[in-house]
Amino acid sequence: MNIREFVRPNVFSLRAYSAKDIPCKVKLDANESPYSFSDAFKTVKSIKTNRYPDPEARGLRELIAREFRVKPENILQGNGSDELIYQLVTTFGGPVLYPVPTFLMYGIISQALGEKRIAIPLNEEFDLDSRNILMRIRREKPGLIFLSTPNNPTGNCFSTENILKIIEAGSSTSLVVVDEAYQPFASERGFIPFLNDYENLIIMRTLSKIGLAGLRVGFLIAREEIINEVNKVRLPFNLNSFSQAIAAEVIKKKTLLKGHIKSIISERGKLFKELLKIKGIRPYPSEANFILFRVNDPDMVYNNLLRRGVLVRNMKGIIDGCLRVTVGTPQENILFLKALKDS
Ligand SMILES: *Cc1c(COP(=O)(O)O)cnc(C)c1O
Repeated sequence: MNIREFVRPNVFSLRAYSAKDIPCKVKLDANESPYSFSDAFKTVKSIKTNRYPDPEARGLRELIAREFRVKPENILQGNGSDELIYQLVTTFGGPVLYPVPTFLMYGIISQALGEKRIAIPLNEEFDLDSRNILMRIRREKPGLIFLSTPNNPTGNCFSTENILKIIEAGSSTSLVVVDEAYQPFASERGFIPFLNDYENLIIMRTLSKIGLAGLRVGFLIAREEIINEVNKVRLPFNLNSFSQAIAAEVIKKKTLLKGHIKSIISERGKLFKELLKIKGIRPYPSEANFILFRVNDPDMVYNNLLRRGVLVRNMKGIIDGCLRVTVGTPQENILFLKALKDS
């Protein structure tokens, strides 16, 4: 038996997402926070391991709703926002439109589910090519549009004006998902204030980039009618009891969370200035917790950094000639810069 003949063609042509665990001293490759909330485990005592988790994650959704001044009915919890992308494409279908380069999962999940993909290159400033996007919306009526702002891996926010034009152009054909994974690090306000103005707007958030990547907690914020439809394809116990309880504890630690974010933003500024000073390196301005930079020989620099214990992301095949470094603790950033200057 040849198993290949049994696999759907759209799945067969996929490649498994490689999230390799490369040993290193300083891990700056995956846009994680350098700060862990390991102590939050201690404060959570009441978890019954023999019982299923709360299928509606009521406690956590209430906390999140309060934080964003919406109702719990406007929140849907996911096992990371990756899972929510799956649920959105399953619920609404394609074609799925997104700019490139951007977060890879929009394309991978759309392909896995057999939906048509419309990938539209960003312009020279890494902003949305709104003319081209508006034309494709008119012609192909995408069911979903994914916009990551700040965008991964370029680090910039798309212009608000361009995003609003796209939301308006799609008002009768397309749901627009504004993926705000990096919004806590950005200087702009984000799109939650626009939720009341646009019926086709969905906001996606995650706790992964602010210290809880290991828990897998993401959520959608949208009007209740949208949440109710997506909720139909959500598996009943998608968010486990530990993640619900610990995420709730951490969300209550607002001062600590804000302190981490403030430090990362300030370190990002320092890192950017230092990168500018190094000959042969061109960093791109960032509103996220990472910096994309261009180097003459990215493979060599990547390997030299790794030999010195520093792991960054090689963007080969996504933005050729570039590496992406996550902002770490002050000490980690110093080690990275030293290794970069030496290499
Ligand atoms: C990291 C990332 C996510 C994934 O978040 P999880 O909640 O960990 O699944 C989503 N969107 C973008 C743009 C990201 O960079």
